[in-house]
Amino acid sequence: MNCQHVTYETLIAYVTNDLDKHEAVAVMNHIASCDQCSKARQHLDTLRSLMCTDDSQEPPQRILCQAFSIFTTENPRFSELALRS
Ligand SMILES: [Zn+2]
Repeated sequence: MNCQHVTYETLIAYVTNDLDKHEAVAVMNHIASCDQCSKARQHLDTLRSLMCTDDSQEPPQRILCQAFSIFTTENPRFSELALRS
């Protein structure tokens, strides 16, 4: 089976609703049939919710480090993204 996984860049755009409708549908269809990308999307959703909870408080550094370590462990490319943002 030749599975073309969704890139982290695309998954991030997906969870932030920055994809056009055609791309979003393609990602949604892939996630529905791919545990690996589904899991990555759930991690991104968790990270996003951690970062978007309350603007009046800085997110706890411990939580951010934990979240980033999850992604960098599973996909070293994410560390490049994290450093860029
Ligand atoms: Zn996949």
